[in-house]
Amino acid sequence: MIYVEGKKVVVLGAQRSGLAVARLLSSQGSEVIVSESNPDLETPELVSKLEEWGVDYEFGEHSEQLFDANFAVISPGIPTRAKIADQLRWNNVPVVSEIEVAFWFADTPTIAITGSNGKTTTTELTADILNKSGLDAVACGNNGYPFSEAIYQSLQQDRHPVYVVEVSSFQLENIQLFSPHTAVLLNLTPDHMDRYRSFEDYIQAKMNIFNHQSRERYAVLNIDDPNIVKYANVKAKVIPVTMNKHTDRLAGFENGYFNFKIKNVPYQIEESKILLPGLHNKYNIMSAFSAAVSFLESSAGVTVSLTTFKGVPHRLQYVDSKNNVLFYNDSKSTNVDSVIVALKSFSKPVHLILGGRDKGIPFTPLNDHLEEIKHLYTIGEAAEIIAFELDAKNITACKTLDKAVAKAYENANPGDIVLLSPGCSSFDQFENFEERGEYFMEIVKKLK
Ligand code: ADP
Repeated sequence: MIYVEGKKVVVLGAQRSGLAVARLLSSQGSEVIVSESNPDLETPELVSKLEEWGVDYEFGEHSEQLFDANFAVISPGIPTRAKIADQLRWNNVPVVSEIEVAFWFADTPTIAITGSNGKTTTTELTADILNKSGLDAVACGNNGYPFSEAIYQSLQQDRHPVYVVEVSSFQLENIQLFSPHTAVLLNLTPDHMDRYRSFEDYIQAKMNIFNHQSRERYAVLNIDDPNIVKYANVKAKVIPVTMNKHTDRLAGFENGYFNFKIKNVPYQIEESKILLPGLHNKYNIMSAFSAAVSFLESSAGVTVSLTTFKGVPHRLQYVDSKNNVLFYNDSKSTNVDSVIVALKSFSKPVHLILGGRDKGIPFTPLNDHLEEIKHLYTIGEAAEIIAFELDAKNITACKTLDKAVAKAYENANPGDIVLLSPGCSSFDQFENFEERGEYFMEIVKKLK
């Protein structure tokens, strides 16, 4: 553990992870000031929380008093080269990320998971496998429950869980000691190009996850991803994740069965028993198993987890089955690419509910996937443009989600899928994608 008592610390950013790390450091005896450039975030509730935690604050400016701090913590929402971060560095104030600080206090192993897609799903599933196997594990990090908050709670409760931490490229930019027991890299595709000069810069940030690992640690790598093969440079022991035969892999998939190995003992689970659909989820499952395996003694908990884990809410989440019609909620799908990922995940006929607020992205790529859609139901503002751009024959304009679900259920045969994968934002009819997904699930639950 790093000694922080009496240290003067600046926390840049008063959003969720900044606040969590401020509270953690203050509870460990640091003198903390939260510095937030956005004056609108200063609310009486927040100020009273900060005062209760013994944390100083400034809103609307970064003052000169910050420059004599011992170190600064930067929130993931602030670019690493933000002016204030550089000014602190010029004044010899080291700038570290929130996960770095949380890691200083982790007295138990950490599993860190990154990648361009599938992070939340794999993080939650890994923690679930460990929990169902009788271990204490906490999913935290970029999934909305900051690593620092998880650490703070553990210190309060004298709890010593395995931390399964979802980490973004931003959080990996300013680490110094962060060295997970097991680091997982799921895939690499261009993302966040508004914050990186090039794809290579983004990849370099992701690769930091392996930088401080020793040879005794583990790196779970999807070696079917050409960018991972090209750029990964790890010292730790590699556990490969691949759909192809490989002597070192611990999880695989062939002919309708997942094949796993725990302490050299092989065992299988039939694909049909698992609720997470799609090829992308096969990679997530193999990665989660490979991350958890060094903590496991037997297969019982893995089977329980994989046969009950319904996915993370709103991401191709299995909702329910009514008269053998299966309902899936993919409300997080707000662009056409993710509708296509969703469609590719099912081999059964799909009744697709599409629409919401149009984001100006063409729907035409869906014309190559019309065979995968048995019937299309449009909702929201985008309904007309969808009907105009798609050559779909089986299409019903429904306006509302209620009507779309009712129509789809009426048309579906036993064995069919009803999928909400709107490919649009939700703001025409809902507060956010979560509210849209919750509403969908409520309607489904009420169906007879
Ligand atoms: P993240 O946390 O990285 O955003 P999520 O687990 O929240 O990822 O999944 C978000 C969406 O990304 C899913 O609905 C699915 O469309 C897609 N996705 C999930 N896992 C993968 C994967 N392994 N490869 C490609 N796409 C994926």
